[in-house]
Amino acid sequence: MTSSRPTPNPGVMDIAAYVPGRETAPGVAKVYKLSSNETPLGSSPKAAEAIEALLGRLELYPDGQSTALREAIAEVHGLNPANILCSNGSDELLGLLAQTYLGPGDEAIYTEHGFLVYKIQILASGATPVCVKEADERADVDAILAAVTGRTKVVFLANPNNPTGTYLPFEEVRRLRAGLPSQVLLVLDAAYAEYVRRNDYESGIELVSSSENVVMTRTFSKIYGLAGLRIGWMYAPAPIIDAVNRVRGPFNVNALAIAAGAAAIRDRALVERAVEHNETWLPRLTAAFEGMGLRVTPSVGNFVLIHFLDDGRHTAEVADAFLVARGFVLRRVTGYGFPNALRMTIGTAEANEGVIAALKDFLSQ
Ligand SMILES: *Cc1c(COP(=O)(O)O)cnc(C)c1O
Repeated sequence: MTSSRPTPNPGVMDIAAYVPGRETAPGVAKVYKLSSNETPLGSSPKAAEAIEALLGRLELYPDGQSTALREAIAEVHGLNPANILCSNGSDELLGLLAQTYLGPGDEAIYTEHGFLVYKIQILASGATPVCVKEADERADVDAILAAVTGRTKVVFLANPNNPTGTYLPFEEVRRLRAGLPSQVLLVLDAAYAEYVRRNDYESGIELVSSSENVVMTRTFSKIYGLAGLRIGWMYAPAPIIDAVNRVRGPFNVNALAIAAGAAAIRDRALVERAVEHNETWLPRLTAAFEGMGLRVTPSVGNFVLIHFLDDGRHTAEVADAFLVARGFVLRRVTGYGFPNALRMTIGTAEANEGVIAALKDFLSQ
C-alpha cells in the first residue's frame, strides 16, 4: 500500500515529544524558575568574555573537531583528548549513540524513572524501548541484567538519575557492566556528576578507561550554567568515538560554545562555589520538607523530588498551582511515573526560603 503523504519512520509517531520545564508564572511579578535544574549561580564571566572576543568573526565556521574544548576538558579531567567527542548538548549525544548503534529489531534498555530522552531516542532510531522497574526509586542492576536479550544493543543509565536524584555506587555500576554481554553498549549519563559528594560514587571515567563497551556523557548545562549554549561531551573508547564521528554533523558544536566551554571548565572556583551552595541547601531543603510531613527522595543532585499527599487537597497538582501563583515554578513529573510529586531545582537562598515558606502555608490550609 502506498500512502498519499510522507510517512515518518516506524517508531516516530510513538514518541511523546519532550516537554521542557515551564519558565513562566502568569501574572506574577517575580518568577523563580526551578524547573530545569539550571544553576542559581549563573555561568563563568570567563565564558562571556570568550564569546565577546568572537562576535566580530561570526562568518567563520567553527573548528569541526572542537579541539580547544576537547583539550580543556582533557586537561581538567586528566583524559586523552582523542577519547573525547563534543556535542550540541549531551541530548545530541544520546541521539547520536542511538542512531549509531540501534535500528529496527534491536532493543535498548532504560529504567522506570529514567531520563525521558532515552526512550525518545530509542524510538527515533526504530528500535524497541525496554523499560525496567526500579527498586526504591533507584536503578536495579539485577532487573536490568534480567531484561537483556539477544536483541539488546544499548543500556542507558543516568547516574545520578533525574528526576529522582538517586545514584548507583561504583560497585553496582561495575557489577552491571560485568553482567552485560560485551557487545551491549552501556551509556552512563553523568549530567550531575559534579554535584555528587559520595565516596562510593564514580562518574564512569574509570569504567570507560577499562572497558570497550562503556561510554560516559557529560554536560555544561548544569553546574557550568551554560544550558543556553548547548554543550555536551562523551568520554569513550576510540572505536566508539570513530563511529559517532562519522554520524554527527561536521560542525555540531558552534564556535561560541567551543570557546565559552573551554573557558568555563577552567573556572574551578565557580564549580567549587556551586558545590558548596548545593551542599548547604540539599540537606536543608530535604529536612524542611520532611519536617512538613512530605517524603523527599534522597538526592545527590542539584534538585529534590518532593512527594505530596493523597488527601485530594494537598496533591502535587494543587501544590503546583499554589506555588506558581507565588512565582515558584517547579517541575511536574507525571511523565516520569510520579503523578503526585514535584521536582524542585535548588535555587538561590531567596528562592529556596520562598518555597519552604510557601509550602508551609500550603500545607496549613
Ligand atoms: C539535564 C540533563 C542532561 C543534559 O542535557 P543537555 O542536552 O546537555 O543540556 C542530560 N541527562 C540528564 C539526565 C539530564 O538531567
